[in-house]
Amino acid sequence: MGNKQTVFTREQLEEYQDNPFRQRIAQVFSEDGDGHMSLNNFLDMFSVMSEMAPRDLKAYYAFKIYDFNGDDYICADDLGQTLGRLTRGELSADEVRLVCEKVLDEADGDHDGRLSLEDFQNMILRAPDFLSTFHIRI
Ligand code: MG
Ligand code: MG
Repeated sequence: MGNKQTVFTREQLEEYQDNPFRQRIAQVFSEDGDGHMSLNNFLDMFSVMSEMAPRDLKAYYAFKIYDFNGDDYICADDLGQTLGRLTRGELSADEVRLVCEKVLDEADGDHDGRLSLEDFQNMILRAPDFLSTFHIRI
């Protein structure tokens, strides 16, 4: 380890522990893609989650985290899983479906029924609070 500095705080660690996307975050940031994070992976993760990280970088990783099936698009099913976690299961299945429809309606710029990274970035540009209102401060 040597001179590597610990750049994350207890608060950040607790927030990570409590994050409903913890498993997805670990998968996205781990080199092997199966969630086993090395110290370097942790450092990368916390630098993306830090307030100083550029919005585009945060948006890129948020997109990857919400893309549960890893096909480089956020489809209705990915969105449903995202909303379920964001609301910690407090929405009914019908409510989740309605919100998904509304999000896709507004953000699916090319009308292919799913969000590309570009659709997602445009959505965030229109709603700059989007990322900070999401529990995942990424
Ligand atoms: Mg997907
Ligand atoms: Mg689209």
